[in-house]
Amino acid sequence: MRYISTRGKCPAQNFEQVLLTGLAPDGGLYIPEQVPQVSAEQLHAWKDLGYAELAFEIIRLYVADCMPEEDLRAIIDDTYAVFSHPEVAPLQQLGDNEYVLELFHGPTLAFKDFALQLLGRLLDYFLARRQKHVAILGATSGDTGSAALEGCRHCEWVDMYILYPHNRVSEVQRRQMTTVPGDNVNSIAIEGNFDDCQNIVKQAFADQGFLPAGYQLVAVNSINFSRIMAQIVYYFYAALKITGGEKPVSFSVPTGNFGDIYAGYLAKKMGLPVDRLIIATNKNDILHRFISSNQYNLGNLEPSLSPSMDIMVSSNFERFLFDLFEGNTEQVTAFVTGLGRNAQQVTDAQWQFAKDIFDSCRVDDDTTCNTISEVFAANGYLLDPHTATGVKAARVCCADNPNPVVCLATAHPAKFADAITRAGLKTPALPPHLADLMEREERMTVLPAELSAVTGYIKKTL
Ligand SMILES: *Cc1c(COP(=O)(O)O)cnc(C)c1O
Repeated sequence: MRYISTRGKCPAQNFEQVLLTGLAPDGGLYIPEQVPQVSAEQLHAWKDLGYAELAFEIIRLYVADCMPEEDLRAIIDDTYAVFSHPEVAPLQQLGDNEYVLELFHGPTLAFKDFALQLLGRLLDYFLARRQKHVAILGATSGDTGSAALEGCRHCEWVDMYILYPHNRVSEVQRRQMTTVPGDNVNSIAIEGNFDDCQNIVKQAFADQGFLPAGYQLVAVNSINFSRIMAQIVYYFYAALKITGGEKPVSFSVPTGNFGDIYAGYLAKKMGLPVDRLIIATNKNDILHRFISSNQYNLGNLEPSLSPSMDIMVSSNFERFLFDLFEGNTEQVTAFVTGLGRNAQQVTDAQWQFAKDIFDSCRVDDDTTCNTISEVFAANGYLLDPHTATGVKAARVCCADNPNPVVCLATAHPAKFADAITRAGLKTPALPPHLADLMEREERMTVLPAELSAVTGYIKKTL
């Protein structure tokens, strides 16, 4: 399998190279040159597989030319064994045709564990083979940081530096980053906001001269294709559980950077019968504005009750734009790089192409809270605020649709107490493996919002 850049200005790479790079050197994102196809017979043969077995069948289509299959199988078995639920991604039924897919049974209680637990293991595997050290550097406003630290803390060949805005993440989120044990774990509180963190990371990637010889930086945000790949699996898993792959299923996805829903799009492209893909946004609704009115322009970043979806631009949308512009990389580049200056539009035919695949819905904070209370009253089931946006969006977009709809539950409700309290409900306890989170010892470094402070710290500690 070869991967090409959405901007078309650098050579194709294999999976190992894509995993170790993240962003393509021309500023684009890697996508598979050809999406592997799954036949109806193959789907049928997969319908009773357990999660890890299914993950192996799907992921090997993307990775197998880079490693022996028995090694991949061992890594995948090991990855999904750390999830606390025997089914890994269990389904809950809320109504006749409405399901919730629980993706929060990993170590950090958010769906990001599905990809980052695998990424850490794959990274260490390839680095051990190359006898090479890397440093992961990332900025986070919440869930990515803890999932990355948990996913890579056992890695022998990886040191991690996760920047987050000092005093601007929730206590649970901070503690999930600052209490991860391990000599290779560095949680860095930056005296600034999330943009400051991200700018420092961008500058460090652009000039890696400060690193000791032989080292490189690796990006683990959702621009890294390996994360998308791991997320394709649960779309197959849910659809096969509900219909055996015999009839179409819709998915409603709480969306920020468009990584998770892009994985659903790839599942559909691979041959899984998928009906609608519903983009649920909060008030940071750039994608909803595009789908509903063919206007793609920057808004202001506004804090919401579903903070992991608070974005101005969805970076992975560029991967879909590659298909929308039928592989014309000049058009992709112009669309993405022109965004800062003006609102972008596509032709009616292109807009229609997008609307044939995606629906969208914007769910504000009040509606999010109402949805949490409604579902609790009707089903005794507690949604986290991100998941609630997805459930609401499914109800709006699929009201007359006879096919089942699966709402992805992207986080555990115990992680986001504010919204639960505002919905008038009692916050649930953290699951057993995190029950003592508030008593654990924290380790962090506070640094000013300056590139040199961060690069100096990395140099000193590597
Ligand atoms: C990251 C995250 C999202 C958004 O996922 P994207 O892939 O960025 O669209 C939604 N919900 C939760 C809980 C998250 O952590």
